[in-house]
Amino acid sequence: MKTNDLFKLKPVLSFEVFPPKSTTPVESIYNTIDELKNYKPDFISVTYGAGGSANNATIDICDAIKNKCGIEAVAHLPCINLTKERAMQELERLKAAGIHNVLALRGDINPDVEPKHEFQHASDLVSFIKENSDLNIIGACYPETHPESDNMIDEIKHLKIKVDAGCSQLITQLFFDNDDFYQFYEKTRIAGINVPIEAGIMPVTNTRQIQRMVAITHAKLPRKFVKIMEKYENDPVALRDAGIAYAVSQIVDLIANDVEGIHLYTMNNPYIASKICKAVQTLFAVGD
Ligand code: FAD
Repeated sequence: MKTNDLFKLKPVLSFEVFPPKSTTPVESIYNTIDELKNYKPDFISVTYGAGGSANNATIDICDAIKNKCGIEAVAHLPCINLTKERAMQELERLKAAGIHNVLALRGDINPDVEPKHEFQHASDLVSFIKENSDLNIIGACYPETHPESDNMIDEIKHLKIKVDAGCSQLITQLFFDNDDFYQFYEKTRIAGINVPIEAGIMPVTNTRQIQRMVAITHAKLPRKFVKIMEKYENDPVALRDAGIAYAVSQIVDLIANDVEGIHLYTMNNPYIASKICKAVQTLFAVGD
């Protein structure tokens, strides 16, 4: 199934997982997915290292999600370090595994790796996938603007090019202030971007993780979020619980404001995903 069809019925709930690091047994991800499936996600997406190494496990994990667990799978595909030949091989692998959905990305620029220069922007990959497959194509978007963008006007202009190239749904970067999402959403509609947008929610549960995420995404930390983190920084259990509660409060507010979907960055942690999903599961019921 193409995941863009899911939005017609109810708010969509999706999870994101990443392939285990090379030091972790690959089976660990299958245990994680087995637990996550209890919370009935509409789809699970699997990240893909932008380095594009030949043994990237993304498509194998998507294959298991779809064909062993019976859950729709979305394979991430960053293009900055891909040749067109390699991109075509990945599309063929997706087709062979019966995967119908791909999140087309540029990938972060690594100063130590010379890009392949065959795809410059994610929109180039979107056009390539559109020409060479029947996949449903998803794009990334940034409620606080992408760190490389000068302003929100350019950001939205580039997003429109990407959607017009063939994206049928979008997933946002994580954010901690829902007002940023609402303002961004309104601007997309004014710009004529009319595809469903899922809100990316990351439950932050330890201080090291926050620092890493903020360094990568440049996400703004609202005052009430900072207060929680300061109060519980020396109490890991309380900090974890406060992070879960904060994510739940974001989701409740988003659903009350008719968000089209929630994409939960699970960090491969089923305990945290389970706590959040148990708190909000009735909000995703059909027909409400
Ligand atoms: P683009 O859409 O190409 O945008 C990147 C920058 O270029 C923006 O500043 C944009 O405004 C600008 N731009 C776009 N088009 C044009 C144009 N035509 N002319 C001029 N400027 C333009 N990374 C991974 O490596 N692997 C993953 O699995 C992964 N998963 C992700 C999942 C989600 C939901 C999100 C939000 C991000 C993910 N990322 C992942 C990170 C992503 O690769 C980075 O944020 C990257 O820096 C930008 O990717 P993009 O696809 O948004 O790029």
